[in-house]
Amino acid sequence: MSFRHCPICEKTFAKNKIFLKKNIKESEITSFSFSSRKIPEFMNHKLILCSSCSLVYADNPPQEVELAESYHQADYDSGKEADMAADTYMYYMEEAISRLDNTDMALDIGTGNGILLELLNDRGFKTVKGVEPSKEAINSAPEKRKSWIIEGIFNESEFSENSYDLICCFMTMEHVKDPKILSKSVLNILKPGGIFVTVTHDYQSIINKMLGKNSPIIDIEHMQIFSKKSMTDLLRNCGYDDIGIKSIKNRYPITYWTRLLPLPKIIKTLLLRIIYYTGMNNFNIGINVGNIMSIARKKNERL
Ligand SMILES: [Zn+2]
Repeated sequence: MSFRHCPICEKTFAKNKIFLKKNIKESEITSFSFSSRKIPEFMNHKLILCSSCSLVYADNPPQEVELAESYHQADYDSGKEADMAADTYMYYMEEAISRLDNTDMALDIGTGNGILLELLNDRGFKTVKGVEPSKEAINSAPEKRKSWIIEGIFNESEFSENSYDLICCFMTMEHVKDPKILSKSVLNILKPGGIFVTVTHDYQSIINKMLGKNSPIIDIEHMQIFSKKSMTDLLRNCGYDDIGIKSIKNRYPITYWTRLLPLPKIIKTLLLRIIYYTGMNNFNIGINVGNIMSIARKKNERL
């Protein structure tokens, strides 16, 4: 553990408040704690609310090496849901993609099994690349996608400056040690006029406010949790232009939504059995679960 200031403001303000006290039971930390889209355990680091940018962040996050290692060994079990999420993200990105000058190169940070890379390739991006720290996730990718995925944590030095038309980072910004360093690195490797697209949770959304500390966003994996304002501040401070943020609806099978419900495990298991027994497991439902998509452009000097 090591102390840090608000990763967006790079300061600790006197008016900051504790958002949530530390809640970690070592005995309940299973290998599942570090895989995406799992049954939430409602554990969290101490979380601070920044009085300036409204970011909620862990001021004593685990060391970076520790973090990378956890993801590397994490179980991976979200194939179908990852596919459905990628469809949702493509739908909401389409307008911004259609306004790009070129669709030569796209990068996806935290690409999982690389499904988004395949959709971007189908959409016309000639070169697609992904970065993913989880070995399990990469192993679950079809052969075609494996060659597109770099195993590890995103590192700017492995990419050329001014080279990407589109860089995506979905459901990953909460996990990284420093979202500002990541956003600045992305800006450097984007082409002028290129776009950075993120999907994050919004702790200020109605659903997350209602669920409070029982919301799945309260999670030991999350080093910071965003709002529309903190995402705007982050992207503006890094030098992005043309920043737009919108709420999105996620489409998932009913079984996925059931697993997220803040209910005791035994009741959840029973509900899931009923759903499978009645054949309702094939239903998909689109719900606004308090996720936001942020799209920001690198200034085009020619304009
Ligand atoms: Zn701040």
